[in-house]
Amino acid sequence: MTEQARTTYICPVCGYNKLEEPPYDEFRYPTYVICSCCGFESGFDDESAGNSIAEYRQRWINKGFPFFNNVKKPSNWNVRVMRRQLENVKLIDKLCNK
Ligand SMILES: [Zn+2]
Repeated sequence: MTEQARTTYICPVCGYNKLEEPPYDEFRYPTYVICSCCGFESGFDDESAGNSIAEYRQRWINKGFPFFNNVKKPSNWNVRVMRRQLENVKLIDKLCNK
């Protein structure tokens, strides 16, 4: 048995759920993974650079939410898909706000 349940790692900025590793490890240290969708890099674009995740997200949306990695860009990428993806982040916010 080599088949494992695939864990999904969600970008805290845009809700993209195909990150290659979690943005932060179990000790909350950044892993410097770069989101293919919004280009957010944990440990580089976040509080360590004086940005809050909410600010980074707002800037990205203001720029027209460009998909960072053209190779992985979904063919149907549009505002509707982006908004649906952002629902993943609300889920994280709820989980973290304790
Ligand atoms: Zn992202």
